[in-house]
Amino acid sequence: MQVKPISNRGSIVCRGCDSKNLVSILNLGEQPLPAEYGMHADEVLDKFPLHLRVCKNCGLGQLGEYVLPERIFHETYPYLSSASEYWVNHATNFAKQMVNKLSLNKESLVIELGGNDGYLLSQFQKLGVSVLNVEPPENTAEIARQAGVPTISKFFGVDLANEILVKYGNPDLICVNNVYAHIPDQQDFTKGMEILSGDTTTITIENPSFDILLNNAFFDTIYHEHYSYLTAHSVDMVSKKCGLKLFHVDRLPTHGGSNRYWLSKSQMPDDTVKTVLDEEKASGLFDEDKWKDFAARSNNAINGLREWLIEREKLGHVVVGYGAAHKGNTFLNAVGEASKTLKYVVDASHEKQGKFLPGSQVPVLSPDKLNSANPKDVLILPWNIADELSSNIKKLAPDANIWVAQPSMKKLN
Ligand SMILES: [Zn+2]
Repeated sequence: MQVKPISNRGSIVCRGCDSKNLVSILNLGEQPLPAEYGMHADEVLDKFPLHLRVCKNCGLGQLGEYVLPERIFHETYPYLSSASEYWVNHATNFAKQMVNKLSLNKESLVIELGGNDGYLLSQFQKLGVSVLNVEPPENTAEIARQAGVPTISKFFGVDLANEILVKYGNPDLICVNNVYAHIPDQQDFTKGMEILSGDTTTITIENPSFDILLNNAFFDTIYHEHYSYLTAHSVDMVSKKCGLKLFHVDRLPTHGGSNRYWLSKSQMPDDTVKTVLDEEKASGLFDEDKWKDFAARSNNAINGLREWLIEREKLGHVVVGYGAAHKGNTFLNAVGEASKTLKYVVDASHEKQGKFLPGSQVPVLSPDKLNSANPKDVLILPWNIADELSSNIKKLAPDANIWVAQPSMKKLN
């Protein structure tokens, strides 16, 4: 049955600029939501089209809208920022940097939109700055409150911005870290930030960069939680539409390649904005041949993993996975039936253990079970932390071959 979108955004109309000039660049078929794990092996999960389009007007990558954020970011949304050591270090450095750069003190207010369990804001608190977290899922909001971080568990937009403004006034800093892609209505959210902003308010938005995704064929970072894939072009355009200005861009190594976009009402753009806009154009963001190349490389990676799994099965190898990451689920669902040959996947998250990967239905076990079926091959699904996981695998399953599937099948030991 053809699933109908709940909005034209992302499939017919651009989420950022309202243009109807959207072009299909990669269709990954119908896939379940990456955080909806099966409770048993035969569970039939809802699936939705995972179809990437790009706006020829503003360069925003985007998916059609089939699922409301309420279904994705609900009270049992399993991701906790403070569970990731990498993110904790990144957050600590960011807070110190911002306190120095913006001369924040005990009179200052930092608001984080989508502040998760409050980890980043608690770093600001340690430095003596007042904070407010806006975090829709009640479970993470409550963890943040328990940690002493004041938290509102509502979705942010114009309405909530008006409420916050009355109660708290203009903040000095609004941070939006790895959250902007989760917003179905970019204009409502961005107008909300404009309402909250005074003349001296700074806004920082951190998000994986779409031009990096295209250039590296990181197709497996596409999943339903990410309604959109940002570029400096798209952020520049939606900001202007909502009364804000993009005045600075930092390139960051996070998630394989992210940008930190700096917005305000009053600051004039510096050279970094032009530099990144030029780099995006030069890398082929608006170039149809680049989009075709991205699709071809993505399909090569998908076919490569499928053929490798089929070959391993013929050889009689026991193959298992390490890391039940979202990107692994996109990859395995794009591979299709052959992904079911994985005997199991191990993951440190207690939430996921005992359940089944959405779509491929592979059972999830704890890492100490990695060697329980004497695997010949271990496939690392979150390739971005392959080094860290490889050293674990060498201890847990010393005789196994270790593999990653991005950008193509590669043995790591
Ligand atoms: Zn657009």
